Amino acid sequence: MIDEELKNTKFFERYCLMLDEDKLSHAIMVVCKDGETARRMTTLMVLKLLCDDVCGECSSCVKVLSGTHPDVLVFPEKDNFLVSDASRIQEETNVKPLLGEKKVFILNNFSRSTPQAQNKLLKTLEEPPKNVYFFIWTTDLNSILPTIKSRTQILELERLSDSAIESFLKRECGEASPLAVKSAEGYLGKALSFQKDESFMADYKLAVSIIRDMKTSKDVLSYASKFSEKLNFENRLNILENCFDELLFVNMGDVEGSALEGLEAEYNQFTVAKIFERINLAKKQFKANCNLGLIADSLLLGILEEKYLCK
Ligand SMILES: [Zn+2]
Repeated sequence: MIDEELKNTKFFERYCLMLDEDKLSHAIMVVCKDGETARRMTTLMVLKLLCDDVCGECSSCVKVLSGTHPDVLVFPEKDNFLVSDASRIQEETNVKPLLGEKKVFILNNFSRSTPQAQNKLLKTLEEPPKNVYFFIWTTDLNSILPTIKSRTQILELERLSDSAIESFLKRECGEASPLAVKSAEGYLGKALSFQKDESFMADYKLAVSIIRDMKTSKDVLSYASKFSEKLNFENRLNILENCFDELLFVNMGDVEGSALEGLEAEYNQFTVAKIFERINLAKKQFKANCNLGLIADSLLLGILEEKYLCK
């Protein structure tokens, strides 16, 4: 499957332009804090190099996507890039491509490589045979030797927009929770882990239910007992805070399809500001090792109070 969201970025547009104008270096280094985003973008760039339409259906595209293209070799063979990987690459650059005219080396997560391995690769990067391309991606440019950097074309990948993240999640997971979109901060890997993390989603649903359905002091007790479970307590506080943040945007009409719609009458912006203060207090109490049950009780009771004062 082609990642359309990445195809629509300025980054990819610039890359296509470089190809068109024949300004592409034989060694590209993609830099992105999020490995999943970098990996997928690198795949897309290789697809484009071998199939101008990036059709996703021709035999070249299918082989690249399934990792079976004989002229696209992926390293490292194990977890980290080692001297042995660099040696294999050196040998392989001298073997002619089998299917087309180009030979491509993808070097995944290159920040996880030893200086020795990087040094060993240097010579190959300096004088590669014709039609050999290197696509290296890294999450951390600081861990790359200056000599390697100077021999590659460094391209920094920007964050994606929330709408791109949303459409990516819908395609990849069948649904996109607003919270996963927001928490992803523009990175595909983060988006996926938030969307797939069941405890995260359960905590999100709990927070939404607290905001929507908590009406009596009896409710407070039952919600507080769920909320005060020891595991992930601090995350739960953050998620609750994010939900109130989301609620503000929903109230302003900036978010559609949120589980927090229709609560304008119960929480205005002043109410939410006071609730933020209470959440901050709860965070301090948590850091001071106060009893989780007591923190949750007083926080949720406080939220209920603010909600009634608002009415
Ligand atoms: Zn194709």
